[in-house]
Amino acid sequence: MHTESDHIFRFAPSPNGELHLGHACSALLNHESARACGGTLLLRMEDTDTQRCRRHYEAQILDDLGWLGITWAQPVRRQSEHLADYEAVLKRLRQLGVVYPAGMSRREIAEEVAHRERSGSPWPRDPDGAPFYPGAERHLDSAGRQRLIESGRPFAWRLDVRRAAEQVGPSLSWREHGRGPEGETGTITCDFSLWGDIILARADGQVAYHLAAVADDGLQGITDIVRGHDLFHATALHRLLQALLGLPQPRYRHHHLISDGHGRKLSKSNRDLSLRALRSRHTPADIRRLIEASPKI
Ligand code: GLU
Repeated sequence: MHTESDHIFRFAPSPNGELHLGHACSALLNHESARACGGTLLLRMEDTDTQRCRRHYEAQILDDLGWLGITWAQPVRRQSEHLADYEAVLKRLRQLGVVYPAGMSRREIAEEVAHRERSGSPWPRDPDGAPFYPGAERHLDSAGRQRLIESGRPFAWRLDVRRAAEQVGPSLSWREHGRGPEGETGTITCDFSLWGDIILARADGQVAYHLAAVADDGLQGITDIVRGHDLFHATALHRLLQALLGLPQPRYRHHHLISDGHGRKLSKSNRDLSLRALRSRHTPADIRRLIEASPKI
């Protein structure tokens, strides 16, 4: 059900660990932004990584958010219950000819990259630190692709980023209402040179974050995306997928990250700043003050 203002926000945690102060910051910003414009806040569990996501973390997240005073519209969308939606999106991208099956394992990629780096210049890495995919399957013809799919070897569906970018045209951008890691704001031109051919799904059906998040933002009619600036550069990929799929462009507002005190962003391994730990000695109002007072990056 949509409110009159039709601003739809979402908080989209992955239930693979406990929420920390950085998540609380993001969740509160979403909650407050939705309230301020009479909009709706949706909650989405990004739980497609079946190896790492756990139901008890999900329960803890719901409990932590409720304790913080955050309210959201029902139902909570659990990505693992919508795999058919992502399958349909992947099929569409296959029809557009912008994804291909790629057979190199993580280890083979690391070895190949090390080999190339020994005999030349540094191999490019994306903003997440992953090396660009060094395999050549993007050049396979359809018979070659079919052979790879039927070979029984594990493979992943990768987005042919350059081909996709060509298909959508040269000047894809987004309007940034917050700031990127270098203070970027206003109209941001998508920079695809930062990215290699990212994985969208694995042959076993496991869907990657970029595909599931973009599909869901479209399906849930999300108009406003408020999230940490660790996802600022990924927005170029999300805009690319939106353009390919004919999805509308949401407003983006990236916010600063809370530092672990050593200049790195908080991670789920910073247990002492998990909300669960903080709740034992702080009130929700303290958490808001702690967020204000914490060092930011
Ligand atoms: N599930 C992502 C995370 O926990 C958030 C994705 C997003 O806000 O787009 O980092």
